[in-house]
Amino acid sequence: MLISGAGVAGIVCALALDKEKYDIEFVEKADSFRNIGFSIVLWKSGFELLRSLFLARDHVLHTNKDDYAVDKFVMFGGLKIKRLREFDARGFAWVFERQHLMEMLEAELAKTFPASAIRFGKTISDIRIKDGAPARVTFSDNSDAEYDLVIIAEGIYSMTRPLLFEERIISLPWRLLYGWFAKETNFLDHAGLFFTKGYVAVIHPPHVHNLLGFYFKKGAVEEDEHAFEKRVLQFVKGIRGEEISFDVKTSKLFDLREVHLDSYSKGNVVAIGDAAHGRPPTVGFGTTLAIEDALALARALNKLAPKDFAAQVAPRLASFSRVRSKRVEQIYRLQRLVHQCITDDALKVSLIAALSPIISRYFERKIKHFALYKLPGSI
Ligand SMILES: Cc1cc2nc3c(=O)[nH]c(=O)nc-3n(C[C@H](O)[C@H](O)[C@H](O)COP(=O)(O)OP(=O)(O)OC[C@H]3O[C@@H](n4cnc5c(N)ncnc54)[C@H](O)[C@@H]3O)c2cc1C
Repeated sequence: MLISGAGVAGIVCALALDKEKYDIEFVEKADSFRNIGFSIVLWKSGFELLRSLFLARDHVLHTNKDDYAVDKFVMFGGLKIKRLREFDARGFAWVFERQHLMEMLEAELAKTFPASAIRFGKTISDIRIKDGAPARVTFSDNSDAEYDLVIIAEGIYSMTRPLLFEERIISLPWRLLYGWFAKETNFLDHAGLFFTKGYVAVIHPPHVHNLLGFYFKKGAVEEDEHAFEKRVLQFVKGIRGEEISFDVKTSKLFDLREVHLDSYSKGNVVAIGDAAHGRPPTVGFGTTLAIEDALALARALNKLAPKDFAAQVAPRLASFSRVRSKRVEQIYRLQRLVHQCITDDALKVSLIAALSPIISRYFERKIKHFALYKLPGSI
């Protein structure tokens, strides 16, 4: 079997697959593991699956060292930005520093697979499938090979996806700026959500460095951006109440896009994680969904009998795709509603702020419902 992409989805899937049944090879486009550092929220379903995966390998996750439990989300909004409401997130949300999460996953991978199982700096350049036959793959170094199963875990910018799947990519009219605060803030173990005219922002709460991420329209003027940062800094202070700043050196700018596929599988090839359904990180479900995909797929594949593997694999992948796409679309329907809050319309901003007790309660209920998801036993 081939896994293309050694990100969260690819590594989690490889760790959970039955090594007695599957010979796993990896290709990874980057020259080494791609551990971009920013913080990510994991909702309960993703966190618990991840924790169990580590636990099964005698690796215990330690809160306040490996992960940070979020105790509440505090919401701020309106034209002048006021504190509106807060909701309890205990037992629902955890924050990870992404680089640390990746390093823990990579260490587990290294315990299980020889270094030669992962080919860095190599990608798929062509892939051909035929009913009941292995997939024929040509690589960027002109080598080729056949695989009973190919898992595409290449993230949102997957290059293999368009070779096989009808993809619809929607480019969104906003950009996302991510950066760390220069030092410790008063958002110790809670997260912040901000919305105001033209901007929506989140503050992740790792105890030492908080991360601020905010969306704004493409083409927004820089002065507006600074004015927004200043307004956020009315509420975010150092731990002794002193003024702090946003560390511009660590800022990263992301363009935002949505990936839509009719099906995540085609014959004996399947896409998982952001390669299948990458979306902007507005509701923070990308990694949770990638982990769920990876484990749902591994569990389904581990049940296949080696006899007649070729006949069983395509229907199993199609079933995986049906179950997972329903889950993914439910979450992103809610996300589309959240995106309605990114607006330049002053009246709409005031209205949303006035109705925030009702609107935010609705979002809270939905998000908590999605966070409580359990992987179905049968795929
Ligand atoms: C700024 C930002 C903030 C985010 N915040 C959150 C959050 O709070 N909560 C959350 O859950 N999610 C968040 N996400 C989303 C989250 O990072 C992704 O959903 C998650 O990483 C998806 O995992 P993946 O394994 O599918 O893809 P990735 O993590 O992107 O991994 C893909 C891997 O494939 C490799 N690759 C790419 N192309 C090829 C190729 N052609 N051949 C071989 N290998 C290839 C890449 O180098 C990479 O190693 C955020 C994303 C961004 C950008």
